[in-house]
This record gives sequence, structure tokens and C-alpha cells, in this order.
Amino acid sequence: MPGQERLKNDILSNDLCSACGLCVGLCPYIKTRRDRVRVIYPCGLDQGTCYSVCPKTGLDLGEMDRRVFGREREDQALGVLQGIYFARATAGSKAPGAQYGGVTSALAALALQQGLISGAILTGGEADNPHPALARTAEEVYACAGSKYVGVPTLAELNRALRDGLTGLGVVGRPCQVAAVRKMQQGNLPGAQFNASAVELVLGLFCVASLTPDFYNFLAEQVKGEKIIKMDIPEDGPVVETSAGNYRWSMDDLRPYVHKACNLCLDLTSEWADISVGATEYDKAWNTLVVRSDQGRGLLDLALEKGVIEIKEYPPQRLPVLRRAALNKKMRVLTGKGYQGGLPGCPVVPEEYRRQIEVQWGGVSQ
Ligand SMILES: Cc1cc2nc3c(=O)[nH]c(=O)nc-3n(C[C@H](O)[C@H](O)[C@H](O)COP(=O)(O)OP(=O)(O)OC[C@H]3O[C@@H](n4cnc5c(N)ncnc54)[C@H](O)[C@@H]3O)c2cc1C
Ligand code: SF4
Ligand code: SF4
Repeated sequence: MPGQERLKNDILSNDLCSACGLCVGLCPYIKTRRDRVRVIYPCGLDQGTCYSVCPKTGLDLGEMDRRVFGREREDQALGVLQGIYFARATAGSKAPGAQYGGVTSALAALALQQGLISGAILTGGEADNPHPALARTAEEVYACAGSKYVGVPTLAELNRALRDGLTGLGVVGRPCQVAAVRKMQQGNLPGAQFNASAVELVLGLFCVASLTPDFYNFLAEQVKGEKIIKMDIPEDGPVVETSAGNYRWSMDDLRPYVHKACNLCLDLTSEWADISVGATEYDKAWNTLVVRSDQGRGLLDLALEKGVIEIKEYPPQRLPVLRRAALNKKMRVLTGKGYQGGLPGCPVVPEEYRRQIEVQWGGVSQ
């Protein structure tokens, strides 16, 4: 497996880094500056953990499914899953700053309180000043609620925590961050900290794209010092709520700030998480919740038993809408100019997966 030089040449220099953060701090020579990942000095090694954990190198969908779940997916839109629901945190368990139904924070807080994880790797701060965070209490989890749409290199905090000797952690991340954590867990990497129990729980977010740090400048010019309370990106364009009111822009205003890496990303729903959580694009008080692993099923059952979240049937008429969105994301990449499976930034899609993606996409795009 190649090392830092290839990471720099193949990924960072080609703008294919989505700022997952997992290579940051693995050695003293990869750092972040205002959420940009940089090699600050050549380490000279021709093999490196940094290259092997990067979600933008050597990602094979079939291999990942087999390694994480022990089987391949039947549903090419949503990946391996045990169930899909509308879900929301109950009144006493909902973080005040929750993005939608507050399910993500409620589940992470419960996992901490029940001792299922020793800490949660999260993204705290505000939309214009986010930062990676390690939460050790439910209150600290709740303080990190809310979506920050710039790609924050959150997993740098995972490295820090593992180096400090913590193990059994939980991670909340975007799909590329989920992929990076899974690669780390299964990679037989050098370093005592990368053992199988380093991460016990992975909660994945849905994600269509993240923004580059240049978006901070755009925000600063627009909101002129007002305190940002919340940001959302509904279908009709981004909305930022500040201490003085609401700002609305069009999707076209955001486009220049989308990470280039996102244009080659196939994963809308964090396909290798234990549980994935997204919007419903229908009712902001609820989330879409996808249970994927036995671990995820166990946490969901516990959350229901403790009354931390409630669920209801996923409305049958909404499922094709979600599946279409997920398949559209894949088809856009697979039929686009820049994609060639296996090249840097481009996941490998097994032939049978590709065939099924087209068949299933045909089924929902009528
Ligand atoms: C960049 C980005 C793009 C997204 N795009 C979509 C989309 O297209 N469709 C969709 O349905 N949902 C999308 N989401 C997910 C959605 O915004 C909510 O995060 C999700 O529905 C969970 O809602 P909640 O109420 O449970 O969250 P909360 O309980 O408020 O918890 C939010 C969690 O998100 C984490 N977080 C915040 N910002 C980031 C970040 N930049 N990177 C990693 N983790 C972060 C926090 O640590 C917190 O744990 C996106 C999220 C992000 C961060
Ligand atoms: S995607 Fe993650 S691992 Fe790859 S270069 Fe960027 S921060 Fe490093
Ligand atoms: S679209 Fe993909 S690459 Fe971009 S931030 Fe989301 S998960 Fe990462």
C-alpha cells in the first residue's frame, strides 16, 4: 500500500480530499488549517497508514459490504439494511439545537450513558466555526447537535483519542467518514490503537455534498457578524438563521463551494454505518433512520425500550423518493466524465452491482 507521497499527489493535490480527517495526525506531517488538510513535510516512507485509511483510495463497494456486514447488498439504492423508519427523539431526549428529529444526538447520548461507548467523536461549534469534538457526557453530545455543512476533518479527533489510549469509541460522521472508519477497523493497520474494538459504534449521516472552507468567507460577507443559530439546505436552497433573522440563497450560490470530491461520491446514506440518519424531506420534526447491523438493531431496541426515541412506519409513498435520490447520486457519478472505477477518488463498483444499479434506477425513475 502506498504512502504519504501518493496521498499528496493522488488525492490532496487533485482536490479529491473530502476532509474526513482520518489521515490527520497519524504522523506529525499531516495537519489541518481551517479545515483544509495539508502535508507539511514529506515523511519519505513509501508505505503509509494515511493512504490505506483514506476513503478516496481503493474503496470497493462489494468488498466493503462483505467485510462490514458479511454479505452483499440487494438494495443498490440504500445498501445493506435491516429496517427503515421515520424516527424522532422524545421530548426529554431531544437536543435543543437538533437539526431535525434529534435522533442522532439522542442515540449517541444513550450509547454513552449506557456505557456502550467510552466517548463520541462529533462535530461541534457553529456553522461558521465548527470543530471536531470528543464528547464524554450526554450534555457534551447535545452541545454538538445541528448540521455544519462545511466538511470538517472530524476524524482527526478520533486519532487523538486513540493516541490518548481511549478505545470503544462512537463516531458520528458523513458517509466518507464512515467509510474511512470501516477501512481503519478492517485494515490490520500497524499501531496498537487500531484494534477491532477501537470504534464500537458508527452513526452515519445522509450526505449529498459538503462545502469547502471558502464557504466561511461567503457566510462572513453575507451575515456580517450576526450570530449564526442554524443552517439548513432544503431542496429550494440554503437557509441560515441568525440572531437578526433569516438569510436565503439559491443552490447555485452554493455550487462553487462544493467539495470536488463529492462529485465522485456514490454514497448518500452512509451505507456502512450501524445506523444511518437523515432528513425525511417531508417533515422536519422527524428523521429517516436506517438500521443496518445487529449492533445498530440492538441500540435502536434499547432506545425504544428506554423511551429515548420513537419510530413509525416509513410512508410507503416516500420510499421510492428516497431510493430515487440515492440512485440518482450514483448514476450521476457513474455516467459522468470524471469517473473511472479504481482511479483516485473513484470507488470500485463490481460489475453485478453496476448492472443492478441501472435496473433499480430504471425502476424508480419512471
Ligand atoms: C455536510 C452534510 C450534508 C448533509 N446532507 C444531507 C442530505 O443531503 N440529505 C439528508 O437527508 N441529510 C443530510 N445531512 C444530514 C442532516 O443534516 C442531519 O445531520 C441528519 O438528518 C441528522 O439529524 P438529527 O436531527 O438526528 O441531528 P442532530 O441530533 O442535530 O445531530 C447532528 C449530528 O451531526 C454531526 N455533524 C454536524 N456537522 C457535521 C459535519 N460537517 N460532519 C460530520 N458530522 C457532523 C454532529 O456531530 C451531530 O452529532 C447532511 C449533514 C451534513 C453534515
Ligand atoms: S479524505 Fe480523509 S484520509 Fe483522505 S486525504 Fe482527505 S482527510 Fe486524509
Ligand atoms: S458527498 Fe460524499 S465525499 Fe462529499 S462530504 Fe458527503 S460523504 Fe463525503
